Amino acid sequence: ENPDLTPERQPEDHDAALRPKSLTEFIGQEAARENLRVFVEAAKSRGEAMDHVLFFGPPGLGKTTLAQIVAKELGVGFRATSGPVIAKAGDLAALLTNLEEGDVLFIDEIHRLSPVVEEVLYPAMEDRALDIIIGEGPSARSVRIDLPPFTLVGATTRQGLLTTPLRDRFGIPVRLNFYTEEELERVVTRGAKLLDMAIESGGAREIARRARGTPRVAGRLMRRVRDFAHVAGDGVVTAKIADEALTRLEVDRLGLDAMDRRYLHMIAGIYKGGPVGVETLAAGLAEPRDTIEEVVEPFLIQLGLIARTARGRCLNDGGWKHLDITPPKRTSD
Ligand code: ADP
Repeated sequence: ENPDLTPERQPEDHDAALRPKSLTEFIGQEAARENLRVFVEAAKSRGEAMDHVLFFGPPGLGKTTLAQIVAKELGVGFRATSGPVIAKAGDLAALLTNLEEGDVLFIDEIHRLSPVVEEVLYPAMEDRALDIIIGEGPSARSVRIDLPPFTLVGATTRQGLLTTPLRDRFGIPVRLNFYTEEELERVVTRGAKLLDMAIESGGAREIARRARGTPRVAGRLMRRVRDFAHVAGDGVVTAKIADEALTRLEVDRLGLDAMDRRYLHMIAGIYKGGPVGVETLAAGLAEPRDTIEEVVEPFLIQLGLIARTARGRCLNDGGWKHLDITPPKRTSD
């Protein structure tokens, strides 16, 4: 796969340079921003820690960015970690006891916390307390430690991946959606200014149109198109340069990458349009099921190319059309 195109974070990402620093600077996600603004103002005026927030939505849509912005707008400290990194209950206890009053603790991929670690989180979120066991065997006893008021900000790709008790402890669930072309055009234009990049509005529009609804992808494509513009032109990103560069990167007119197309071709070619189970597709594509469900499918569903049904995945008319294949005649069943 072409690593330039995946919405998942890559080590070489320079996300930090493009990160908006305030709710006003943050583009799109209108409903989420307005909600957060109200909760931030209310917490500030009461002088209390803000309620816990859960961001959910596909990778690269701005969950980490918003978590940082919330801390900044609240005027509190920001600590970040992620589900898979917290191996033991003691690791989380150490993080929690080091928080200062009002701090934001950000846990990315929060659905990947182990059950024992999650147990520690419940009283911490609900009562701002930590229950620790001292000693072993019959002499073991539980001691409760009070924690400073803090705001937990969790991020996950799908709300449904969380256990019910964890999900219920977030007062503010916030869904992030794919960006519109117009919003992504603003993301690209803003990014170009920050990167001191010469771009025409047609060039920005072309990148926006093919960025898979995702600011992280837009940021990556911008850098690649800029490199191309320096080699193939005079450095200015025009619509034509952008189109040539993106075609070379195998990003098609809808913004689909090679992985997306392999997925569609598999349903079309081998399974005659489906329905086919996600496990079967994942095995056929040699990709983890999570990647298929959390990265590949959401955007294809958003575009209406495929549907998730109880019996499996199906190609829609739009999917056949995009592949330029005539659907096989249904045998009467
Ligand atoms: P997530 O945590 O959802 O995977 P990030 O918050 O890390 O996504 O965002 C990925 C990249 O996209 C970052 O470089 C960030 O600066 C950029 N980005 C995200 N949302 C926006 C936005 N609304 N406006 C501009 N850039 C954004």
